[in-house]
Amino acid sequence: MGGRKDLTSYAYRKRRAAFLAESDVCHLCGHPGADVVDHITPVASGADPRDTDNWAPAHGVKRCPTCGRNCNGEKGATTAAPRLNTSRDWYA
Ligand SMILES: [Zn+2]
Ligand SMILES: [Zn+2]
Repeated sequence: MGGRKDLTSYAYRKRRAAFLAESDVCHLCGHPGADVVDHITPVASGADPRDTDNWAPAHGVKRCPTCGRNCNGEKGATTAAPRLNTSRDWYA
């Protein structure tokens, strides 16, 4: 246990950047320009936040330039900025 602190590690951010560089088509609205990594299975449901198989590009920090939606924000999730505290309720 205790591995969650590397959520904000340089390696993790680098993996996210590489992931978005490979595909930036938002899985919520289907348009390009995604800027955050969303989790398909919510971390609250037991998904590992570092499992790239569970990652999907989404618009979050910036709105979608095509449809103007803030996709990840509308979903009510802020998976783009995982917190370090251990409260699982935060994700629900
Ligand atoms: Zn979108
Ligand atoms: Zn869109």
